[in-house]
Amino acid sequence: MRRGAALATASLSVLLSLALGTSAVALREEPQAHAERAAVEAHDVPSGALGAERLAALPRPAVTTVPAAVADAPRAVVDDGRGAGGSPSGTSSPPEAQPAPAPTAAPQPPPEPAVAAPAAAPDCAALACVALTFDDGPGPDTGRLLDELAARAVHATFFVVGRQIAKEPGAVAREVAAGHVVGNHTWDHAMLPSLSDEALAAELDTTSQAIVAEGAPAPTLARPPYGSLSPSVTQAFASRGMAGVLWDVDTEDWKNRDAGVTTERALAGAHPGAIILMHDIHPSTVDAVPGLVDALRARGFTLVTVPQLLATPVAGGVYAHR
Ligand SMILES: [Zn+2]
Repeated sequence: MRRGAALATASLSVLLSLALGTSAVALREEPQAHAERAAVEAHDVPSGALGAERLAALPRPAVTTVPAAVADAPRAVVDDGRGAGGSPSGTSSPPEAQPAPAPTAAPQPPPEPAVAAPAAAPDCAALACVALTFDDGPGPDTGRLLDELAARAVHATFFVVGRQIAKEPGAVAREVAAGHVVGNHTWDHAMLPSLSDEALAAELDTTSQAIVAEGAPAPTLARPPYGSLSPSVTQAFASRGMAGVLWDVDTEDWKNRDAGVTTERALAGAHPGAIILMHDIHPSTVDAVPGLVDALRARGFTLVTVPQLLATPVAGGVYAHR
């Protein structure tokens, strides 16, 4: 029901955008002029962040979700991990990752893939999946975050700022090697709708190139700083094979700088299909992650990457949740 409504709204939004030449719309209600440092530290949305429904109600490019029909499409697997330590059990939710059942005498074993069997991708059509996303890094605390995620076998999605990559040598390469997904968050956290076509292209392309240079695949996901989009921006994403990724749970970690509050907000907002926004440049956020992961799992959630959550995001589409 919700999905259908979102799609219908999305279509209307597209038509409206085309008909009216809708100009830039920012999620952020009061974009501030940032000092350079502040821009990198910043936060995509201040208090009063819009939920997905309110987003969809704005005259803006489509905020859409993936049709259920494609949710099970085969895809490269980055497994969520199989409940390494720290995953409380005893919930009534679907199992997060079941070990392969022991072979029985029954015939018809499943066909084996040619490659060494990766664990099955979580089926987010059936499981209560949520995606943790970390923006604005890499930063000095990113390595510690990667340690925590690895300890819990969690895969996340990092929307990195291009110019930060060289400041934390090896961090993005490590994200990639660990199986996290790395997306484009522009070169210097730019407010994209205000840019010329050339500047917009440079923001996206230099960042994607820097990500690829770290050993990552060319990014297929982009998160516009401040959630700020325009038809030109979504077109720029589309022409580069990227989908736009927003969020529908804002921890406001950049503002509260408090692990407890960040955790509380994430848990309060979590729902099946949620995309949770955090920033790995804040030590308090990294402090929050171990407990948050455990608490989400205790509530029956499966932690996945954004591509796993969305299954088949479409280039030029904009997604705030599954
Ligand atoms: Zn950001």
